[in-house]
Amino acid sequence: MNLELLDQLPTPACLLDADTAEYVQVNQLWQEAIGYPHLSAGSQAELEITNGSAHKKCLALARNLVRIANKHYWLVTAYDVSKYQQQIREQQQEKQQIEEQLVECSTTLQIVNELLKDRADAQYKIMQRLRRNRQFLQRFIASSPCILYIYDLERQEYVYINQDSLTRLGYDSLKVTSIDKLVHPEDIVVLTKHYAKCRQLKPNDTLVVEYRLVKADKTFRWYRSYDAVFEVFNQQVVQIVGVAIDITEQKLAEITLAYSEQKNRAILRAIPDLILRLRADGTCIECLPPSPPHNFRIIQNHLREVLEPEELQKHLQAIARALQEKKLQVCEQKVIKQGRVCEEEVYIVAVSEHEVLEIVRDISDRQAAIRTKMELAKQKEITELQRRFFAMLSHEFRTPLATILASAQLLQVSHQHWLDEKAIRNLKRIELCVVDALELLENMMTINRADAGGLQVKKSVYNLRSFTDEVIDALASDRQIVTNYPITFDDYEGWIDPFLMRRVLVNLLNNALKYSAPETVVTVNLLVSYKQDQAIWQITDQGIGIAPEDVDHIFTLGWRGQNAAQVRGSGLGLAVVQACLTAMGGTIAVNSKLGVGTTFTVVVPIAEC
Ligand code: ADP
Repeated sequence: MNLELLDQLPTPACLLDADTAEYVQVNQLWQEAIGYPHLSAGSQAELEITNGSAHKKCLALARNLVRIANKHYWLVTAYDVSKYQQQIREQQQEKQQIEEQLVECSTTLQIVNELLKDRADAQYKIMQRLRRNRQFLQRFIASSPCILYIYDLERQEYVYINQDSLTRLGYDSLKVTSIDKLVHPEDIVVLTKHYAKCRQLKPNDTLVVEYRLVKADKTFRWYRSYDAVFEVFNQQVVQIVGVAIDITEQKLAEITLAYSEQKNRAILRAIPDLILRLRADGTCIECLPPSPPHNFRIIQNHLREVLEPEELQKHLQAIARALQEKKLQVCEQKVIKQGRVCEEEVYIVAVSEHEVLEIVRDISDRQAAIRTKMELAKQKEITELQRRFFAMLSHEFRTPLATILASAQLLQVSHQHWLDEKAIRNLKRIELCVVDALELLENMMTINRADAGGLQVKKSVYNLRSFTDEVIDALASDRQIVTNYPITFDDYEGWIDPFLMRRVLVNLLNNALKYSAPETVVTVNLLVSYKQDQAIWQITDQGIGIAPEDVDHIFTLGWRGQNAAQVRGSGLGLAVVQACLTAMGGTIAVNSKLGVGTTFTVVVPIAEC
């Protein structure tokens, strides 16, 4: 190579001595680009030379061994590589960025990877849990004593019912879809209404209904259903999910309880008392009146509704005592009912710390009865006094009357030759009046004794015909009395009380004579039934008779027939007859026709007692 050629090279170049590595020659471009740097002949490194100016250049050096004039030189050429350097730098930057991105991506990928792994784990766990839940649910449904179902409100049928419950009811699951097959006929309406309501169900609401389900063996059981929304279409509930619990035992207990409560209430209402549950201040918790009709005022809220302030005070004090002493308290109170003052007796017993049970009894009638009894006793006392006074008086009258009668009869007998007719008539009248008065006294004394329960029966044996004749003969009457005795009657005897029997016959005969015209006949029939140990007297007259409406009253003391006003009388005779017959165990019957006549039939036992 020619040394001059160095300047012709288009790139900075220099020649170095191959042995010493010293500059032999540099070209113009080298000088411009590098100046005179100190380079060793072996240097191939990239040089970065600052030539004094501000800009940086990057040069690459290439070394070639050349021989010039038998001498070896290093030809070093420099190439401006700053442009490539820049590219390299940029590429390196890019590479670095890519690397950084890669690192970033791989980190992200790692995170994503982690996440995916976590997610897969979670999903696996969820799947596991779901599987467990499903198993649990299946076991739960299988072992559940309840009926679980889904009911389609549109199609009106069960779309699902758990198999076991249907088996328990005795059904083949496939056959039961409609409520008609399952539900008790009486409850179908209830359930239909319930399902209609279910259409309006809100998502979190539950509707409850009770009904009976018919088992395959035709017996039934009570169920309570809780229904909730299962599916909604067009804002309408179309399917519900429900659980039905068997409440038969509870229902039976309820029914039994209700029945026994009803029974207890019926018993309580059968008691003719008012039952009250009250608080200490008189507030009414419950007011149970007896079955109507009753005479109690119903208390709505408080005792003051029925009690005057004074009575209320008394009652509240009794309640306080019952609560404090825990002992039965009895008090009496006055209540105004329908404008009438009624008396009540109240039994109060404490049932808790603040509550009492009361039985209120209307004792108005009892109190009235006690008062009446007391009045009666008083009346009886007065009557007894009167009776004794009257007995005493009768006795006092009888002696002088008997004396007058005896005197009048004696006068008639002993002085009949020189007494004129008028005097005899007067004596006769005296005799009749005295006999009447004595009869009246006798009747009064008999009824007096009967009232006092003192009509004693003292029987003796009598010839009944003679006895009757004697009674008739003793009557102070001129009238003829026809007697009819059985032909073989002469010896017939019977056990009778002569005093009582005389009273009976005398009063009946006197009435027959009194209530018939003097020209008519009075008949006495006497019959004896030895078979029945009875004597029967029949006294018949042809007098004024007794009005049918009077017949039932004629034996009442002091009562006189409406057609008897013209005849003298006191209404005492038949009452005496009745009292005497009752004492003797006899009976009397009357048969009468107005204006035709009357027959009294007396039956008296004549057996020895
Ligand atoms: P009294 O004859 O004094 O009125 P009694 O007690 O003897 O009372 O009789 C009651 C009533 O029965 C009489 O008032 C009379 O109306 C009716 N009576 C009784 N006996 C007869 C009779 N033989 N004929 C018609 N009425 C009679």
